[in-house]
Amino acid sequence: MEGAEPRRETELFKTLANETRLKILLAIARRQRERGPLSYAQIMDEIGMEDSGRFNYHLDQLQEHLVRREDGKYVPSASTHRLLGLLDSELLYDDTVVDPVTVGAACLRCGDPIEAIYDYDFYVSCHTCGETRLTKDTSPKIARERSLRTVAAEADQRTRAHLRSMLDGRCLACGGDIEFRMFDSDEQFYPCGLLDVICTIGCRTCSDGIAPLSVGQVVLGHPEVQRYCDKHDIDLNERPQWEYTWTRTDRSTEILSRDPWHVRKYCYVDGSRLIVELAGDGTLEYVDHLLVAP
Ligand SMILES: [Zn+2]
Ligand SMILES: [Zn+2]
Repeated sequence: MEGAEPRRETELFKTLANETRLKILLAIARRQRERGPLSYAQIMDEIGMEDSGRFNYHLDQLQEHLVRREDGKYVPSASTHRLLGLLDSELLYDDTVVDPVTVGAACLRCGDPIEAIYDYDFYVSCHTCGETRLTKDTSPKIARERSLRTVAAEADQRTRAHLRSMLDGRCLACGGDIEFRMFDSDEQFYPCGLLDVICTIGCRTCSDGIAPLSVGQVVLGHPEVQRYCDKHDIDLNERPQWEYTWTRTDRSTEILSRDPWHVRKYCYVDGSRLIVELAGDGTLEYVDHLLVAP
């Protein structure tokens, strides 16, 4: 979508920004799930509309992208299901806030405890200065029902799995190709001042992606590094990512070159010092390890 005029999106939001059309769409989608597609008369009945002229007008508008006619009945398109999934979900309206809990790590900037926080969104971060170690889409229902420490541990694993699948080169959401980028940290994009290098990974087709990432986080989620560690009995999952300080600073990162990008990262994990080198497209260039004295 970058650089392109969001004309289709504008049209879509215009179509949706009308109470009658939204009612029709919701009726079609919800009823279809329960009892199959609705006919013209059934939809009118469902939303309590009597003016067939107005009804026709709105139904026509929906038929541009959102609704199809099949055997005289109306069915929602695939994109409608996706859109309504979002509108339907409590994610959009929920204002859950849960008391933060500490997760056993200290902020690298100010020294205050790192906390798991659910404040509309889920974070593992420093309450005082905002240094953020992890954010991950989490349903408010999950945040209310489980302890935030559990939510944090799961978010840690989910982030790594997400990254692993993307680094394998395919978007799980849409099957599209992945683009990995590495660049000098900049204050606007990453205000915490602890990283010299920022990585981003995203799908070229849909909006799925993870950013900003530190080189350390990329190492932690890298499928090749995972395979290397499995082979050498090093447990990369020994601790949650916020306990590995090397994921949050570039004190243990060397920039070997910028054109093309090539970085070396030292990572302390499970009694070993991993030496990992990555290229600017996320490719693993080198990996080795040394045992370190406890
Ligand atoms: Zn702090
Ligand atoms: Zn995608």
